[in-house]
Amino acid sequence: MSGPAHPVLPPLREVIARHNLSASKALGQNFLFDEQLLDRIAAIPGDLTEARVFEVGPGPGGLTRALLRAGAKVTAVERDARCLPALAEVADAFPDRLTVSHGDAMQVDATAATGGPHHIVANLPYNVGTALLVGWLESAAWPPAWASLTLMFQAEVAERIVAAPGTSAYGRLAVLAQWRSKARIAMRVHRSAFTPPPKVMSAVVHIVPKDMPSGVRPQTIARLTAAAFGQRRKMLRQSLKALPGAAEAMAACGIDSERRAETLTVADYVALARVIDARD
Ligand code: SAM
Repeated sequence: MSGPAHPVLPPLREVIARHNLSASKALGQNFLFDEQLLDRIAAIPGDLTEARVFEVGPGPGGLTRALLRAGAKVTAVERDARCLPALAEVADAFPDRLTVSHGDAMQVDATAATGGPHHIVANLPYNVGTALLVGWLESAAWPPAWASLTLMFQAEVAERIVAAPGTSAYGRLAVLAQWRSKARIAMRVHRSAFTPPPKVMSAVVHIVPKDMPSGVRPQTIARLTAAAFGQRRKMLRQSLKALPGAAEAMAACGIDSERRAETLTVADYVALARVIDARD
């Protein structure tokens, strides 16, 4: 069975050379050129036919091309102006399917940019990846405007997102990613797949929203986890001391205040937040 015909574009290595896109370390530029690998990443969110996709940091456009091949309508924001001519060639090859803006993804609202519900897919720059993820996870609206997040991180960050209680990787990021979403590592990617290869291994995390627990405010989860994991070696009695209602909430939930932050499950944090919010 043959799929739809796709426009023929020059190989990415040639694009890099022609546009002089020497990788910038400051911008977290580690490019992917392997089309099969890129198609596998673009397949993680599921069927993207006619779906809106927001991509951060398209660079020379390898992942962008894979998303377009998968049938998506892509809106991308790229900080490096040097990449824009290469991306304009991709936009020309896929008429009316790709919009690229020049800017900082930290300042861009994905819903406003894409014009509606969307998937977010990105090989994220390591320096802003976690901050972007936390922003999406802390969306005031739930279910959020994003239907899924498919994001490449350094493997160590990916482990922290999916971590289970009692492990050294478990912390604030795990609770934020898991209290109203499902997070899994969808693919591990060897450092040699990138140009230039980073020092560490990478992994793609796939996150989908689930029902939000009732009676819990996102700000309370944010404050609770910041306090608890801000002093993760201390007993909760100490680390949550300054948080109004936390001591009573631990008592009400039967959580021993001598425990440490990493021993509580995500459900424990939700239960504590619910009791704290009920008193306001
Ligand atoms: N998507 C390309 C790929 O997979 O080959 C490039 C990925 S590279 C890891 C990260 C990209 O994000 C680079 O193109 C970089 O210029 C861009 N970038 C870095 N900081 C950014 C920011 N704050 N906003 C938007 N793009 C950014």
